[in-house]
Amino acid sequence: MSRRVYLDHNASTPVHPEVLAEMLPFFAEIYGNPSSIHAFGREAREGVDQARERIARFLQVSPQEIVFTSGGTESDNLGVKGLASARGRGHLITSSVEHHAVLRTCQVLEAQGFDVTYVGVDAHGMVEPDEVRRALRPDTIAISVMHANSEVGTLQPIGAIGRLARERSIPFHVDAVQTFGKIPLDVDALGIDVLSFSGHKIYGPKGIAGLYIRKGTKMVSIQHGGEHERRRRAGTENLPGIVGLGKAVEVRARDMHAEAERVGALRDRLWEGVRARVPEVRLSGHPTERLPGTASLLVRHVESESIVLGLDLKGIAVSAGSACTSGNVEPSHVLVAMGVPLDWAMGAVRCSLGRSTTAEDVDYVIESVDTIVRRLRQALPVGAA
Ligand SMILES: *Cc1c(COP(=O)(O)O)cnc(C)c1O
Repeated sequence: MSRRVYLDHNASTPVHPEVLAEMLPFFAEIYGNPSSIHAFGREAREGVDQARERIARFLQVSPQEIVFTSGGTESDNLGVKGLASARGRGHLITSSVEHHAVLRTCQVLEAQGFDVTYVGVDAHGMVEPDEVRRALRPDTIAISVMHANSEVGTLQPIGAIGRLARERSIPFHVDAVQTFGKIPLDVDALGIDVLSFSGHKIYGPKGIAGLYIRKGTKMVSIQHGGEHERRRRAGTENLPGIVGLGKAVEVRARDMHAEAERVGALRDRLWEGVRARVPEVRLSGHPTERLPGTASLLVRHVESESIVLGLDLKGIAVSAGSACTSGNVEPSHVLVAMGVPLDWAMGAVRCSLGRSTTAEDVDYVIESVDTIVRRLRQALPVGAA
């Protein structure tokens, strides 16, 4: 199969050519340790400083409020654990549709004696701010809610939750890995104190990410070593990665508005095309409050993995919203939280579009989904009445 279509941008993205060009000198030409005081170190430090400034400019915050980490996962771990550990004990509020980097961190905190409330979501995958209000306790020490869900693309009412947090001076962490660099993000207007973002979701390299930490927010480091990143994250900086992340953010600041519009139109084309041709299919997530490039399809009575593998044979990459483990279909925790019935959730397929996606790609995907679903429904009417 010569044709290849990548519709899995929420999982990872290719490095933008401008980002790669910016990174290359920082492997073998500029390689000093940014902490060293000699010329080699100072050159490296300049690369780190420039990247930090670019990110700070994008978020309209101060460069001192940006900390580099090894990935969105570490950012979420540091964000949630860092806030909790700085307070020692108490109650946290998060949602049931968070990324596992937040959910599993909260579970570890529970094992350590913290209390955690996991607020639910509505059928669109949205957290109700009133539920967060009801979950508040006198000993609530932190709130963590993601900006956009990576599976269904629903945008959470971060501004309303941020106001609740601010009224009570509770620090508010937001996993913005899926929105940072895709849609506008104003940490002051939204009341965000700590924000996770990651490079490889926005055409930057993998294994580099960051955390915005509002000045004055009490946090403790989760790893211990040198005095890097103002003692908030120990370890020699990933110099090429940091330089790449900084450039990726600069490119996103320039391109994101036009791209959100273009990708949003392609996403609509995809959904309209699939809906017109495939019977018993739904779009999951919120109808309007959602990421521009995400189309999460629910194909009734067909297994996600069969569709994903069928599309793979046609050179198309999408991801499954449910997994088949030992003969049982297990829908993702997000679809479960949304109350999607099993006969629909079992056939969840996420298509996430990006800067290289074309209308021809989308038309090819529509046609392929139609063919594969038709074939699967004839072959094995799993659970079909
Ligand atoms: C991808 C992702 C992460 C994890 O980021 P990595 O850089 O892959 O570790 C966390 N949260 C969300 C919402 C994500 O989409």
